[in-house]
Amino acid sequence: EIAEATFKRIKETEPQVDAFITLNEERAIELATKLDVAGIDETQPLAGLPIGIKDNIVTKDLLTTAGSKMLFNFEPIYDATVMEQLYSAGMIPVGKLNMDEFAMGGSTETSYFKKTKNAWDQTKVPGGSSGGSAAAVAAGQIGASLGSDTGGSIRQPAAFNGIVGMKPTYGRVSRFGLIAFASSLDQIGPLTRTVKDNAFLLNAISGWDKRDSSSAKIEVPDFTAGLTGDIKGLKIAVPKEFMTEGVAPEIRTAVEKAVTTFKGLGATVDEVSLPHSKYGVEVYYIIASSEASSNLQRFDGIRYGYRSENVKDLEDVYVNSRSEGFGLEVKRRIMLGTFSLSAGYYDAYFKKAGQVRTLICRDFDAVFNDYDLIIGPTTPTVAYGLGENIEDPITMYTADVLTIPVNLAGLPGMSVPCGFVDGLPVGLQLIGKHFDEATMYQAAYAFE
Ligand code: GLN
Repeated sequence: EIAEATFKRIKETEPQVDAFITLNEERAIELATKLDVAGIDETQPLAGLPIGIKDNIVTKDLLTTAGSKMLFNFEPIYDATVMEQLYSAGMIPVGKLNMDEFAMGGSTETSYFKKTKNAWDQTKVPGGSSGGSAAAVAAGQIGASLGSDTGGSIRQPAAFNGIVGMKPTYGRVSRFGLIAFASSLDQIGPLTRTVKDNAFLLNAISGWDKRDSSSAKIEVPDFTAGLTGDIKGLKIAVPKEFMTEGVAPEIRTAVEKAVTTFKGLGATVDEVSLPHSKYGVEVYYIIASSEASSNLQRFDGIRYGYRSENVKDLEDVYVNSRSEGFGLEVKRRIMLGTFSLSAGYYDAYFKKAGQVRTLICRDFDAVFNDYDLIIGPTTPTVAYGLGENIEDPITMYTADVLTIPVNLAGLPGMSVPCGFVDGLPVGLQLIGKHFDEATMYQAAYAFE
């Protein structure tokens, strides 16, 4: 009944939000009716609950496009580890959610398939790259979704749609079966309406996986255990670099109100500095594009997806399939990446970016010597108009300034709703120590 009601709701609301690329109706209903056969105990906290999946997470025999023409017909022959974990938890995957092509973008407008709309205002972007994952949850189509975050793609759309999004610590969740964008940055994470739902979902997808060499062999606590509302004595830091003129004044005001709330709950809040975070955008776009240019070499017109018909020889198969299969933003990243990795420029760009990345990590380490948590805004603005920034890559890239340093340092980052500006949601970002998502959930729950 829940699964059927979910599809009814999706069909009613889909014309307004356009969040899904593919629906999985028949199989989802069948799975929901046979949970007991699959050995699922109905007292498992997530049993029978519908979930949506970002379309860069591979799903066996179910179309997985990564938002690209290049994968317009790609049906994977296996499930990502997170999918296996969701099945074991008894969850029902109802469909695949729209996203920026190969997760490159911040508005879901680079998708080959459709333009997803913000759940609060159909003239605004849903954020991205996990725009479908956020809009679907905010529009009440589903209670939870999975997204991926390389430079902010879970937290920023969560902020733009007024929901809770968690990018776990690098290594917390297996990326086996996540279509790689930038391997030293990518993480899968949950998007939900409440902090508690989010914690339950992270419980389900965390843990070591022998098929992902970057996954961490480290104990997974119960992330719901600390949800008591008590945060007395918690030491919170606010980086002054996150509260500059670049951030809309109304957003800074909303964050200052959140600071007052935390103080009222018995936390201490001090200003700190992350002096190198201002270089994050430059560092990220060199590293992420370089890694992407390497990861995307596999799309050669032969092994997966799209193959050009317009060919005379093998060279044409590669060149024309890639020229016709990739969109503008993906090509821009491949060119940036191959340039920074080329022999004459490697030292000046890729190597230098790695060195500055280390400085950004050290800034965070220094703050976490004295504090439990960092807070600040998730985004410099609320959701902007569809079509407003997409022609201007520099504006798009600099909008990631507050989320990117967290990925560069491999830290867990989360966005929770903290008010509205002109009827559009504002996100509060929480940044935790490595593998300390539990403290973030504890604080977010008390705040919520
Ligand atoms: N907006 C950033 C980019 O375009 C981040 C994307 C992401 O986290 N996948 O690269």
